[in-house]
Amino acid sequence: MELEFFTKNTSIAYFSMEIGIRPEMHTYSGGLGILAGDTLKSAADLRIPMIGITLIHRMGYFKQELDPFGRQIEHPDPWDIGEFLKKIDKKIPITLEGKTVYVTAWLYVIESTTGGKIPIIFLDTDIPENDPESRTLTHFLYGGDLTYRLKQEAILGIGGVRMLEELGFEIRKYHMNEGHSSLLTLELLNKFKKPIEEVWSDELVWDVEKVKNLCVFTTHTPVEAGHDRFPYDLVQKILGEPVPMWLLKKLAGDGMLNMTLLGFNLSEYINGVSKKHEEVSERMFPGYEIHAITNGVHPYTWVSEPFKNLYNKYLPGWANEPEIFVRAWRIPSEEIWDAHMQAKRSLIDYVNRITGANFNYDTFTIGFARRATPYKRADLLMSDPERLAIIGEGRVQIIYAGKSHPKDEGGKKLIQRIFEIKERLKDRLKIVYLPNYDMAMAMKLVSGVDIWLNNPLKPYEASGTSGMKATHNGVPNFSVLDGWWIEGWIEGYTGWAIGTMEETSDPKRDAEDLYFKLANEILPLFYEKREIWIKIMKNAITMNAYYFNTHRMVRFYVTEAYIR
Ligand SMILES: *Cc1c(COP(=O)(O)O)cnc(C)c1O
Repeated sequence: MELEFFTKNTSIAYFSMEIGIRPEMHTYSGGLGILAGDTLKSAADLRIPMIGITLIHRMGYFKQELDPFGRQIEHPDPWDIGEFLKKIDKKIPITLEGKTVYVTAWLYVIESTTGGKIPIIFLDTDIPENDPESRTLTHFLYGGDLTYRLKQEAILGIGGVRMLEELGFEIRKYHMNEGHSSLLTLELLNKFKKPIEEVWSDELVWDVEKVKNLCVFTTHTPVEAGHDRFPYDLVQKILGEPVPMWLLKKLAGDGMLNMTLLGFNLSEYINGVSKKHEEVSERMFPGYEIHAITNGVHPYTWVSEPFKNLYNKYLPGWANEPEIFVRAWRIPSEEIWDAHMQAKRSLIDYVNRITGANFNYDTFTIGFARRATPYKRADLLMSDPERLAIIGEGRVQIIYAGKSHPKDEGGKKLIQRIFEIKERLKDRLKIVYLPNYDMAMAMKLVSGVDIWLNNPLKPYEASGTSGMKATHNGVPNFSVLDGWWIEGWIEGYTGWAIGTMEETSDPKRDAEDLYFKLANEILPLFYEKREIWIKIMKNAITMNAYYFNTHRMVRFYVTEAYIR
């Protein structure tokens, strides 16, 4: 597929530091990247004139090895670029730390069964024109120090806009998926500068309104400390003054360059990724009008083979019209259960092959997989190991997975703590921690477990998406009321809540609720009232999957944010 095919008809550019499209391409770390990939896949299905821009991340995020004590060992995670991408014969210069760095690009095309196609541009500095240090700038996703990160963000934001222009695109909306790409606004300010003869002061050269009209910003971070910030002396050292310092400080904050503020101040449309997240963000950034577009997942990517067959039989057209899931109640219960057991057997075989843990097909299986970081509280289920063993002995098996960022010591300790308790309970409860969580493993987990557990500290979960993947496979959620689950939860119908609607968590109460509902509601239903259990599985599809998909989400972006 040649790029010229796209240049004339593409008007929306979607910028993201990570884009996860397929497990063999190591260009993502977690939720943010997979959301970006799912967004572009739905855009292809819906024939939206979009293009994705990201970095190539030749060495990936990292490959996770876990030693017998649960200590994380990180390895570079290169991937076969030539197998998936096509080199584009163009390069653009960017000045970083006073040096010219050349940025080239690779092309990937998402091709939908509907005939829709979406190009993705992967920026790359690893070319002979650059010095050895500059060549490494597009190697590691979220690697290196602050300088490395700022340079990467400059390549993405500034380099991305330049590359699109070099390739002949005429972009009408720039969508920043999180603050990593906010520097693109500075490039646009320069691009649309008014000639000094036409205005009566130097300040009016900068056409902030024009740039605002072009930009859309999605924030994903409900905690103050999570927003990308760079000291201005570093910014000046690396970037010089892309716009005058007084203007930059006005747009990005006085003390440090805050990438979220910069994006906010230059975007006409700003949104959070769930209704709750909108509320939290508005409080964190008073004075900004923040909207909500709740996340989703790409149906065709996240439905397992057995459920694909089932949906094809009973709900033809589901993949491109997920609203059809509303009729999943028509699927006979036995066939829902058969499809689930097929997915479950394939997961259990996989777990046993990797770990030798001898999991059973018929035992209630809890899945918990996400980034290992303290606020996600992977160990809440372990807070009273004795009680867990009493409830679960012979009746529960648990599968964990998740990487911890190399610099997240708290996250690494959490994995070790789970290993400790797993060891302590080993004669009474089967628990495994699978190494190197990725998209392929996520597919197996979200479709093969009986329940998807999620218990982060509130209100830190902007949305969460793995639970949505579970619902596409008829797997109910058991989760705290934060992010998307506030919108998807109907107690006892689509799944269960842990804790109350209050905005902050009460850890004691959460643990109590977790154990109580598991022992007294969830396990009895699963083992003794299978008919009702399967109805809950159907509800997960009809009431959750029909809404929490990227088709619905992309349509919202089009009507709320892109066409204005
Ligand atoms: C879906 C997914 C995530 C995001 O899950 P959350 O529930 O948002 O934490 C992270 N990693 C992988 C590999 C995934 O597939």
